[in-house]
Amino acid sequence: SSDKRIILITGGNNGIGYDTVAALSSADANNHIILAARSEERGLKALEELKARKPAGTISFVKLDVTDDSSIAAAAAQVEKEFGRLDVLVNNAGIAITKPTDREVFRQTFETNVYGPALLTDALAPLLKKSKDPRIINVSSGLGSIAKRADPKDDYYSTAADPYRMSKAALNMLTTCQSYNYKDDGFKVWTYCPGFVITDLTGKDHRKWREENGADSSETSAQGILEIVEGKRDGEVNCFVQR
Ligand code: NDP
Repeated sequence: SSDKRIILITGGNNGIGYDTVAALSSADANNHIILAARSEERGLKALEELKARKPAGTISFVKLDVTDDSSIAAAAAQVEKEFGRLDVLVNNAGIAITKPTDREVFRQTFETNVYGPALLTDALAPLLKKSKDPRIINVSSGLGSIAKRADPKDDYYSTAADPYRMSKAALNMLTTCQSYNYKDDGFKVWTYCPGFVITDLTGKDHRKWREENGADSSETSAQGILEIVEGKRDGEVNCFVQR
């Protein structure tokens, strides 16, 4: 098993996940990042782009669709075979469907944003238990805060956002559950809100937007995840960590 810090990021091919792979791989020669993506094509393209930046650390790829149990099992088996251990899991993959809400929209949103992180974490727990300092970061949203009032004037608080907001509230509760479930194994678990970021998820082509406008807040969001990985936010364990 490797001496490096082994970090897996779901949805690492795009948006905040992509910038998190970039930040963590460039921060420390001791970091090995496993870029997980559901599409092999998009994942390998991102891997090549990020490797071309010649980061201090190393990056590899695993195919992983968090809504598919056989994909989760195959990814966990691959990580075990290649590294024998996992130190950090970043549950970043997420969706926000903008279509009118129906049962299928609720189902897909919860499959990806809630059941995915829950089942992936359980599948990777045996590998995380082999770490000296196991860390889980669930990328959530302030929109999942129960205390926040709905404002009908704001699109993000319209009924179309209900499945998304409900899924992030459930993800926040998952963080609480995981911190209890894995307490004796020394896991540290965070729910992290990256703040508002212009990405495909919030309705713009992130790559195109960046080409036209330069750096954006996605990089700042990735820095917050880096700080958690590096132990700089340890006082905030199990709190709602804001960018
Ligand atoms: P993007 O749409 O840019 O990226 C989402 C990533 O998740 C993509 O890589 C996507 O893959 C992946 N993904 C989606 N479904 C699956 C799946 N079933 N299995 C594996 N991967 C999947 O969005 P963001 O970067 O904005 O979002 C990242 C996280 O940040 C999400 O959890 C989101 O809720 C959260 N967040 C974002 C905010 C923002 O303002 N952008 C604010 C608060 C929270 P693919 O390319 O194949 O679709």
